[in-house]
Amino acid sequence: MTLENVETYQEVDFSSRSEEEKNDFLSMTWCNQCGEMDLGMVEPKEYVSEARHWIEGRCKVCYAEVITEIQEGDDIE
Ligand SMILES: [Zn+2]
Repeated sequence: MTLENVETYQEVDFSSRSEEEKNDFLSMTWCNQCGEMDLGMVEPKEYVSEARHWIEGRCKVCYAEVITEIQEGDDIE
């Protein structure tokens, strides 16, 4: 994956979240491949950029990439 021509972002430590938050984020997913929600996510990685905050992982069922956007509620219209 090349980082050229994309917005600047950085990885943050997903594992430092509380167990409760981790469980929530890992269970509340949407998989495009399966077309189903809440199938679960494995191998989570959390990222932030200027405009967005999200978690990337893989679907527990089909292992396709799944992305969960995090809405913190502060800079949202
Ligand atoms: Zn899937």
